[in-house]
Amino acid sequence: MSFDYDLFVIGGGSGGVRAARIAAGDHGAKVGLAEESRMGGTCVIRGCVPKKLMIFASQAGLMAEEMRGYGWADAQAGAFDWEIFREKMDAELTRLELIYRAGLNRAGVEVHDQRARLVGHHEIELADGTRKTSRHILIAAGGRPTKIGIPGEELGIVSDDFFLMEKLPRRVLLIGGGFIACEFASILAGLGVEAVQVYRGDAVLRGFDREARDMATLQLSHVGVDLRLGLTPTRLDKAGDGIEVSFDDGSSDRFDAVLFATGRTPYTGGLGLENTEVRLKPNGAIEVDDWSQTCVPSIFAVGDVTDRVNLTPVAIREGHAFADTMFGAKPRKVDHSVVASAVYLRPHELGTVGLTEEEARARGPVDVYSTVFRPMRSMFAGSDARVMMKLLVDPATDKVLGCHIFGPEAGEMIQLAAIPITMGATKAQFDATIAVHPTAAEELVTMRAPSRRHDAPHG
Ligand code: NDP
Repeated sequence: MSFDYDLFVIGGGSGGVRAARIAAGDHGAKVGLAEESRMGGTCVIRGCVPKKLMIFASQAGLMAEEMRGYGWADAQAGAFDWEIFREKMDAELTRLELIYRAGLNRAGVEVHDQRARLVGHHEIELADGTRKTSRHILIAAGGRPTKIGIPGEELGIVSDDFFLMEKLPRRVLLIGGGFIACEFASILAGLGVEAVQVYRGDAVLRGFDREARDMATLQLSHVGVDLRLGLTPTRLDKAGDGIEVSFDDGSSDRFDAVLFATGRTPYTGGLGLENTEVRLKPNGAIEVDDWSQTCVPSIFAVGDVTDRVNLTPVAIREGHAFADTMFGAKPRKVDHSVVASAVYLRPHELGTVGLTEEEARARGPVDVYSTVFRPMRSMFAGSDARVMMKLLVDPATDKVLGCHIFGPEAGEMIQLAAIPITMGATKAQFDATIAVHPTAAEELVTMRAPSRRHDAPHG
């Protein structure tokens, strides 16, 4: 049987674009790709990229404060102009989108700027009614923010909407304690917006190392976020130009905008999966094996739509491995066991790779090398902000199981620490590395004695 394409990709985000480009450009496959929105997906258009630009924009006040501590007695951030920033940000996103499109064109991928749905195991229907057949189909449709099912929640926005706002609200409620809520709370506080964050737990960033979570929780309050723990909203009501929010402790408060940062779910609705035998997990994610293959041999899926490790570089790696395996005769699986990530808070970020102290402790004996200190740069300026560096080491093998850094540019630092840890480095190899002085990161190679040892699995 002959097909219109060797590969048809649904979704022009990080995973889909990489798979299409490698399959067509490197391996000569005939590839089609459908994208219903802007090319680049969540990361480029409404996620990592604009968010990081906003993080940079939000630092002015902290930088001015620090510089006052260095003798620039009059240093002030001044007023932030959202319109100027947004115009520049939009231009940057358009530039990146064009680069994505150019890459696809150069590789010879046929792009369809419309929605696609599956009508069979080898067939796609585009929004204009055209049908295309393909030997293989890759679903890379990503995820979408979700709300929590409370009355009036349609009055609230999600992160996608935030980047499109015409003007900055004066007072914002952020709901959630995950990546998005914490990053946006830091951004808003830095831009001079009154930010109130409510989280149902006792420390933000569940799933991260507990000591790091406690430091992040403290920092949010220090940078001016009104963080209210152990609290959940129960309903939203319109109140003039604003929104009245009721909470489960009986209190209520009024905001100009309410941002739900309460998780993301795989974007599988309306994909036509009912026309296939593709199996879904209970949360709607597409079930795949180590090769990103669904239970239908011709259909594959990568990225957030599979809900494995929901991070852009993972989706890119999955898309690349899929294309090499299927079209390049280079079978490659993705190892999801050690993936570094960063939460971009201010002034200190959280960088993490490998097991948390709690996970390592549950697994078996672990030596904890941990240091908390005031770094030279901010201490000189009069700040009490603390940095944490932590290495978790298996006492039997000396292997470094995890690393957690809470400090300035921790995202940059953890990227470098992730290399030896991915390679399986031992603590002795960290120790053999001569320090770069004076840096904060030198602590990673100078921690001589464990701060504590957990002997037996906890509980
Ligand atoms: P997360 O899953 O990280 O956090 C969701 C938050 O919402 C949690 O604090 C959760 O609480 C809370 N929540 C969920 N349901 C309810 C409810 N019914 N009532 C009250 N609170 C609730 O999702 P995000 O939206 O923050 O981010 C989505 C994903 O995007 C992340 O998992 C990450 O993969 C990715 N991302 C990565 C970034 C990065 O790498 N820097 C940045 C931004 C996003 P609880 O903890 O108690 O469950």
